Amino acid sequence: MSSADRPCPACGESGARPLFEKAGYRVLECSCGTAFTARLPSAEELTAHYGLDYFQGNPEKFGYVDYSAEEPFLLQSFGAKVERLQRTPGPGRVLDVGCATGGFLKLLGPAWERRGIELSRELLDSQAATPGVSVWNGDFLQYPRENGPFDVLTMWDALDHIPDPAAALRKAHALLRPGGTLAMNLGDRDSLFARALGRRWHLYIPPTHLTYFTRGSLTALLERSGFRVVQCEYEGKWVPLSLCFFRLSYILTHPFFRWLSDRFSEWRIGQLKAYINLRDVMTVYAVKIEPAGSSRSAEPVG
Ligand SMILES: [Zn+2]
Repeated sequence: MSSADRPCPACGESGARPLFEKAGYRVLECSCGTAFTARLPSAEELTAHYGLDYFQGNPEKFGYVDYSAEEPFLLQSFGAKVERLQRTPGPGRVLDVGCATGGFLKLLGPAWERRGIELSRELLDSQAATPGVSVWNGDFLQYPRENGPFDVLTMWDALDHIPDPAAALRKAHALLRPGGTLAMNLGDRDSLFARALGRRWHLYIPPTHLTYFTRGSLTALLERSGFRVVQCEYEGKWVPLSLCFFRLSYILTHPFFRWLSDRFSEWRIGQLKAYINLRDVMTVYAVKIEPAGSSRSAEPVG
């Protein structure tokens, strides 16, 4: 490692070993199992990366073909998560970190007091607001603590984008009530699919994703941050065929797949949907234990 490399964002140890280089970023692997980019992108790099083209099909960015067209599929994929939270802990105050256009909060329904945080001003400006959902534009770490406490805090496809995931979990802990539920999903780099693909795994996408957890390294970080994991499962999701080929063209970088991806975006058949479960994305539910780091258990949940 070079002296400019940052320590592991999950466990804080230095001395991670080089794994590979991708999109101009060196990716390191820590002995705790976590992989991460050796450096963080600058604020300017991030702002440029998350421009509106990220949500509208820039093939260099592995974002979305067209976020608004894909939203119905994303919403369908939220079904099991919505059901789980409606059942346990049930309606209350919820904060969705990285809420995009508020689709998940919309699905939870008006029985909840719904708040969201979204970093992209451009994305918020491009969409109509959802009635009953209040969205705060900015960086989660700067979110006013007075707005808490919340009963549920959700981070869908968010933790691996956040430059300092340990700080984000401390922030989540501070915003939740004791016994409150933290729900998140993110890739598992120790999954069979990720190990088989190596550096070509579709979730190794710096600077979109900056940290790549394993189930073990995420559980350890959650426990150090004052949470107890109560459920971890591997759910699939509904995607339009056009997105399958768009992402395949990113993984395989062969002109044929780029051509196929473009055709599927134009054709009606691209809007057909497929349920894909590669068992490489974990959905984790954890409860806040008070105080942080204590082994005392919170009220039973799940
Ligand atoms: Zn580590």
